[in-house]
Amino acid sequence: QTAEVGVIGMAVMGSNLARGMAHKGFRVAIYNRTASRTDEVMAEHGTEGIFLPFHDLGDFVASLERPRRIVMMVKAGRGTDAVIKEIIPLLQPGDVLVDGGNAYFGDTRRREEETRPTGIHYVGTGISGGEVGALEGPSIMPGGSKESYAAIGPILEKISAHVDGEPCCAWMGTDGAGHFVKMVHNGIEYADMQFIGEAHALLRAAGLTNAEAADVFESWNHGDLDSYLVDITSRVLRAKDPRNPATDLLDVIRDEAGMKGTGTWTVQTALELGVDVSTIGEAVFARSVSSSLPLREAGQQALEGPDRAISVDDRQAFIDDVRDALWSAKVIAYAQGLDEIRTAAAEYNWQVDMGQVASIWRDGCIIRARLLQRIKDEYAAGDLTSLLEAPSVKAELARCQQGWRRVVARAVEAGVPVPGFSSALGYYDQVRAPRLNAALTQGLRDLFGAHTYRRVDDEGSWHVNWSGDGREVRAD
Ligand code: NDP
Repeated sequence: QTAEVGVIGMAVMGSNLARGMAHKGFRVAIYNRTASRTDEVMAEHGTEGIFLPFHDLGDFVASLERPRRIVMMVKAGRGTDAVIKEIIPLLQPGDVLVDGGNAYFGDTRRREEETRPTGIHYVGTGISGGEVGALEGPSIMPGGSKESYAAIGPILEKISAHVDGEPCCAWMGTDGAGHFVKMVHNGIEYADMQFIGEAHALLRAAGLTNAEAADVFESWNHGDLDSYLVDITSRVLRAKDPRNPATDLLDVIRDEAGMKGTGTWTVQTALELGVDVSTIGEAVFARSVSSSLPLREAGQQALEGPDRAISVDDRQAFIDDVRDALWSAKVIAYAQGLDEIRTAAAEYNWQVDMGQVASIWRDGCIIRARLLQRIKDEYAAGDLTSLLEAPSVKAELARCQQGWRRVVARAVEAGVPVPGFSSALGYYDQVRAPRLNAALTQGLRDLFGAHTYRRVDDEGSWHVNWSGDGREVRAD
């Protein structure tokens, strides 16, 4: 018997992805470097579908129908390079090698370029949804050649999550486009979680208990904020400490956030592309600050300020303002993330369809949310420079911005840190301002460094002879 698809790497993601494929009726070859792991998967799940387990990579490859379709789900970085090195000599032109791990898109571009002369298609693919998603239907973001998508796309689409019959999987563009989109997905996830944390902190500062805050998040989840992360927030807020049911679990979790690096990549890449992803940056920095214990200890000793309590006369009105701030900030994070994808697409010559990006994020992935349907529809209606100019988005922001401002103002007065909400608002006010303080920046740069400036009423670059006669000279 031959296999239609193969999966390498039988840790949690790979084994669940292989099971998801088998559940959909595919004959799946499986292989893991450590053979006992393959045996364990067979022992636990071998009856769930048609699996062809292998201990030898050559036998695994030989079992696959041509063109071979192989998905690697191994440790990103050296693990991926090791598997590529071993498997490429066993493959033939036209075969498709998919990297479903969390690779850095620059590595994927390099690997794709190195593989191209062999005629083997290298397909960097973002997969989101964690282990449950991998099993039950993730959001899948494949890159690589368009030709390769014809071979691997139908399988990936079938195992992905679906919304209204449409798969949450689509070709994102050549070489590293798929991993780029996944990277930005994770960046937006960071921002989303930071905003949720700030909303919760504000509700607590206004006197709500965790359980009351959970009710608020639950009610939000029935409206425009409907999303996986808001949904699971109420679950975490309601959870009791398994060691002591009288205490909320949240109150015994250390306030030190970890991270694995995709948020940092999103920000580093944006800096290189010259794109503002300040909300994602704030989210990454907020995690860094949370884990910088000596800094926080010193700050707690040294710094004066208000006591982080917000007194509210009308509790529901305040809650509604926090909701509006959360919705608005979330939209800004999406706008910034999509701007990063749009800019990268121009830089790397990818034909990324922004509506399709929103479409495949609607389900299966961690940032799945009702908002994504709106974003998909807006991009379908017409090309946009920024999500913020979409008719329904700008109208809703116009309505929300007053509450958002009140929330940031109250937080600043009370000393509740809201770097995400305030940074998002700063972006909103910057991009809508007819004139920015950049004019003064250019004036200063011209004075100290003769960096020149451009005029509002004339073409060309100009410089003032600051240290001489004060006259303006053309500099280009
Ligand atoms: P891990 O990232 O923990 O990787 C373990 C797997 O990689 C094992 O199968 C291991 O084989 C294999 N491996 C490691 N080094 C090598 C090597 N040098 N040669 C061959 N095989 C090697 O597994 P996960 O399932 O958590 O993740 C797989 C990929 O999916 C990663 O890239 C991860 O970033 C990505 N991902 C993970 C998500 C998650 O929620 N966990 C979500 C989305 C993507 P062995 O058993 O022999 O050690």
